[in-house]
Amino acid sequence: MSSGQLIAITGPSGVGKGTLVRLLLARHPELYLSVSTTTRQPRPGEVEGQDYYFVSPDRFKTLIATGQLLEWAEYAGNYYGTPREKVETQIHQGRTVLLEIEVMGAQQIKQTFPEALRLFILPPNVAELERRLRDRGTDTEDAIAKRLQRAKAEIELSTEFNVQIVNDNLDQALAKIEQAIFN
Ligand code: ADP
Ligand code: 5GP
Repeated sequence: MSSGQLIAITGPSGVGKGTLVRLLLARHPELYLSVSTTTRQPRPGEVEGQDYYFVSPDRFKTLIATGQLLEWAEYAGNYYGTPREKVETQIHQGRTVLLEIEVMGAQQIKQTFPEALRLFILPPNVAELERRLRDRGTDTEDAIAKRLQRAKAEIELSTEFNVQIVNDNLDQALAKIEQAIFN
């Protein structure tokens, strides 16, 4: 059996990564979405092992020290990382694995998994990104300001990724992701 592919999808918060990944999985159920490990508290309705593996900061440090994460990053005061073994097992079984992760972690994938295809999702402009963050209704004004500040620095890194896709029209952005993955 030939090996599967690793696809890392990244971009600033609010750009539409989660929306695009949900649509992609609905259209291509054969894709495998990696479940990340995090130190943040579960939100109401989130399920252990389905949305995230929720762990203590000490446990997270052990996972880093023992090389069990393919990448990791701190985001908004919590740690997030991709469990290495699960991803590698799926890929060896020939499946295409998706990671939906923030930008610092996605940069590390270039070193830890050089064959991965790394996609960067861009907003049409920063004003539209701000509008989406606000309309989503999940963040305080303070969190929105921090996310926008971080977004400006992240967008400057977009050229380090294999493919850049502007999420203006959702269907067109989805088609471009499909083209990049299934070419
Ligand atoms: P992320 O996962 O990157 O933080 P989300 O998928 O949560 O972003 O999207 C942020 C908000 O933007 C959501 O309210 C979503 O419905 C909206 N959104 C996503 N893509 C588009 C698009 N192409 N046009 C308009 N709104 C969008
Ligand atoms: P949230 O707390 O809203 O679920 O996620 C916050 C951010 O962490 C999002 O940008 C999400 O893409 C990112 N994220 C989720 N899992 C991982 C991971 O395993 N690694 C990295 N680097 N970022 C992640």
